[in-house]
Amino acid sequence: MAENVSKGAQYAKYTPDLFERSELSEFPWIFRSRDKKVYLVAAGKASEGTYIKGFVESDSRPGMYHYVVAMVGSHHELVGGGFCECESRVYYGKPCKHILKIRNIMVKNRSGIPGLDLARKEG
Ligand SMILES: [Zn+2]
Repeated sequence: MAENVSKGAQYAKYTPDLFERSELSEFPWIFRSRDKKVYLVAAGKASEGTYIKGFVESDSRPGMYHYVVAMVGSHHELVGGGFCECESRVYYGKPCKHILKIRNIMVKNRSGIPGLDLARKEG
């Protein structure tokens, strides 16, 4: 969407929407990384893989977070490139470090994330 936004001036002034940590604390997050750089708000299975949504802290703006969405395939590959509003994602069009970070957090903590511990069948 937003393909019909006039090109030029507005694009140069792009600033991403960021969230403060205090806002995230009030959010119904389901998982938080130990260093508090990543908060997950949703995760689950879809036909293409595992979807994951959450907030990843900005390196250049500590305490501020980007909203990030990623789809991760069965071999831990990114499906569809992911979504992030940061400058590098918008300017270069490639998956940024925030998308890669949320993917890594999901892969490493899969068993501790509600909705993703589906491999267990006992009980
Ligand atoms: Zn990003």
